Amino acid sequence: AVFSDLKLSEELQRAVKAQEYDEPSPIQIETIPVVLSGWDILAASQTGTGKTAAYVLPLLDLLNKCGEARANHMKALVLAPTRELAAQIYESIVNYGRFMDLKSTVVYGGKKINPQMIRMTKGMHILVATPGRLLDLYRQNAVRFTDLKYLVLDEADRMLNLGFSEEIKEILNLLPRKRQTLMFTATFTDEVRSLARKLVNNPVEISV
Ligand code: AMP
Repeated sequence: AVFSDLKLSEELQRAVKAQEYDEPSPIQIETIPVVLSGWDILAASQTGTGKTAAYVLPLLDLLNKCGEARANHMKALVLAPTRELAAQIYESIVNYGRFMDLKSTVVYGGKKINPQMIRMTKGMHILVATPGRLLDLYRQNAVRFTDLKYLVLDEADRMLNLGFSEEIKEILNLLPRKRQTLMFTATFTDEVRSLARKLVNNPVEISV
C-alpha cells in the first residue's frame, strides 16, 4: 500500500513525505480509512507499530474541516497515561500538522498550572493531556468539553494499570455523548473490556 491510497489531504501527504516513510504500516492501513469514515475504533496495538500516526493523521484531516476552536474549548482530546507519552504524541501532532493551520497543546502534571491555564484561553483543535492534570484544569474552569467531537484514549491498559480508572470515569462523564472515540490498548484484560463498553460505541475492532 501507499500513503496516497489513504485519501488524506494534500498537506498531510506532504508531511508524511517529509518524514520519509516508504509506506503506511499495517495499523495505519487498517485505522486511517475507518477513522475518516467516522467510526469508533477499538484497536489492539503495541508501541512501535506506528499507532500514533494511525490516529493523528486522520484526526488532523477531520479537524481541518471543523473551523476555529473557541477559547478554553478543544475539538479533540487525546488522553495519555504518562508525561513522556503525552509529550511524544504532541510532537507527532506538530510534526504531521506542520503544513496545516491547527492549534494544539499538551498539558501534564509536574509543571506549573498557570501557564497552562493561559494557553487554554486560546482554544485548541487538539489537547493532549494526562488525566489528573486535565481534571485540575477543569476544576479551575480552564477547560470546557462542550465542543469536543473526538476522543482518543492511548495505551488504555497502561492507564488502568497506573490507577487512572476513577479519573477516566470522571472525565467521561463530562464529555458530550455524541462524539467519535478511538481507543488503543496493548492488551485486552477484563478491565480494559469493561472500560471499552463505557467508552466506544459500536467500534470497528482492529488488531495487527
Ligand atoms: P508509534 O508506534 O506511534 O510509537 O511509532 C513508532 C515509530 O514509527 C515512530 O518513530 C514513527 O515516527 C515511526 N513511523 C510511524 N509511521 C511510520 C511509517 N509508515 N513508516 C515508517 N516509520 C513510521
